[in-house]
Amino acid sequence: MPSNATPTALSILGATGSIGTQTLDIVRLFPDRLSVKVLTGGRNVDLLREQALEFQPELVVVGTEAGYHALCEALAGTPTEVAWGDAALVSAATWAGVDTVVAALVGFVGLQPVMAALAADRTVALANKETMVVAGALMRAELAKGRGTIVPVDSEHSAIFQCLVGEPPESVEQLILTASGGPFRTRPAETFDQITKAEALNHPNWSMGAKITIDSATMMNKGLEVIEARWMFDVPVDRIDVLVHPQSIIHSMVAFADGSTKAQLGVPDMRVPIQYALSYPDRWTAPHPRIDWRDLACLDFEQPDLVRFPCLRLAFEALASGGTAPAVLNAANEVAVQRFLEEDLRFVEIPRLIEAAVEALAQSVQPSLVDLVEADTAARRWAQEHRLRTTH
Ligand code: NAD
Ligand code: MG
Repeated sequence: MPSNATPTALSILGATGSIGTQTLDIVRLFPDRLSVKVLTGGRNVDLLREQALEFQPELVVVGTEAGYHALCEALAGTPTEVAWGDAALVSAATWAGVDTVVAALVGFVGLQPVMAALAADRTVALANKETMVVAGALMRAELAKGRGTIVPVDSEHSAIFQCLVGEPPESVEQLILTASGGPFRTRPAETFDQITKAEALNHPNWSMGAKITIDSATMMNKGLEVIEARWMFDVPVDRIDVLVHPQSIIHSMVAFADGSTKAQLGVPDMRVPIQYALSYPDRWTAPHPRIDWRDLACLDFEQPDLVRFPCLRLAFEALASGGTAPAVLNAANEVAVQRFLEEDLRFVEIPRLIEAAVEALAQSVQPSLVDLVEADTAARRWAQEHRLRTTH
């Protein structure tokens, strides 16, 4: 049924990435319900130009000065304004007339824009989980002041959000985050030393950006999601559990006080949770793939292995420590993943570098936004320069 309401105006931060491009697929499906006012991209200027020409936003923000000049030339004569750099991302997140900011940047770079969007009372459709890992407490404080709204995009959090609709908060006993287990779920511990970049980039169920793909291989992704769930749903960590479910059909579950458990299921396709973040509380008819129940032989579950995947343990520990520990964990992980992709660090060294960074730098203060930015900068520098002793 077509709606007569004004379309929801979007600012899409990270429009050229995996989540960003799939968000634009949803806009193409619902042109009368969604409109694009702002698009931002990093270095993929060609794609950002194509997107700007197609959607005619009021503003595009690009990551580099060279990209800025190229876009100014390509978009001359169109109504689109061009800007570049980190400060412009804050303008993008607070642009006049925007209802919903789709936070699809990867990493800490998204933090200031997300905080600015909340302060400006926008709805944030949050994919950029690192921001909530670093500053979950500050985001909850903004929400408590009645500023802004956050709806999840991450498939696990979307599943939990969907299970919670209509439920009294005090009846929630446990959030159960499912994890695919990644490409190394069944790989023997003694061969982890030989894991290559190509193997780590080959995720069994999802096609995603490089950073989250490596995070899925180390299971840091699930660790980040545990921290994200703690703040997204304001639930203490002892009520959050992780269960490996290799088929990625159950996207997560909520167990209630009366012994009942709700789960949300679907074919692994990020367009479904992205669309729900934009349609909530409604559901829009869409041609996304359906589960073929007769084809679905079984659903398996197993305990995560914290010995082969220490990143998951490190994330639980950082959440328990609080203070700047999650910010240091996140920054060290971002650097470790980058160094692994540059073949400057082995796979098994990723958790070692993160653990050493947290031990060296984490502080148990109640951090402000400025403290978090400082903690991030220091941890990033430390993790970049630190050489691990080889343990062959
Ligand atoms: P991606 O690498 O595909 O895209 C990232 C986007 O951010 C791109 O548009 C890139 O140009 C932009 N960007 C990166 N660094 C930038 C910088 N310094 N300045 C300005 N722009 C910059 O990443 P993705 O896979 O789409 O993931 C985005 C976020 O969503 C991540 O936090 C990820 O954990 C989360 N997420 C992704 C998926 C998925 O399926 N891809 C699923 C769940 C959650
Ligand atoms: Mg996820």
